[in-house]
Amino acid sequence: MSIRIHKESCIGCGRCIEACPGNLIGLMEGKAKILIPEDCWGCTSCLKECPVGAVAYYLGADMGGRGAVMSIEKEKEIYHWKIHMPKGEIKVISVNRKNANQY
Ligand code: SF4
Ligand code: SF4
Repeated sequence: MSIRIHKESCIGCGRCIEACPGNLIGLMEGKAKILIPEDCWGCTSCLKECPVGAVAYYLGADMGGRGAVMSIEKEKEIYHWKIHMPKGEIKVISVNRKNANQY
């Protein structure tokens, strides 16, 4: 399990660093970088905090993701979780974050 940070999109705001409960992300040359990828347990806090969608999350084969990558797009209260499948298909799961604790 791990995340990937797109250097080109990262604006170095540090929000993902503050959000990570395991202190697994650092700032290097003004860009966020995952420092200890093997310790990431996939809480997705860094994805939700990033204001520019620079963080993506690998859904490895071990959890049925077959190497898919998940990213998030925010639209006011709605989080659109986009799952990019290995063969190019994109699945979208939209959740109102106010209702997130109901599940
Ligand atoms: S998914 Fe959670 S544990 Fe993993 S790097 Fe992001 S904030 Fe840290
Ligand atoms: S929250 Fe996003 S933009 Fe800010 S440092 Fe982290 S990856 Fe970069």
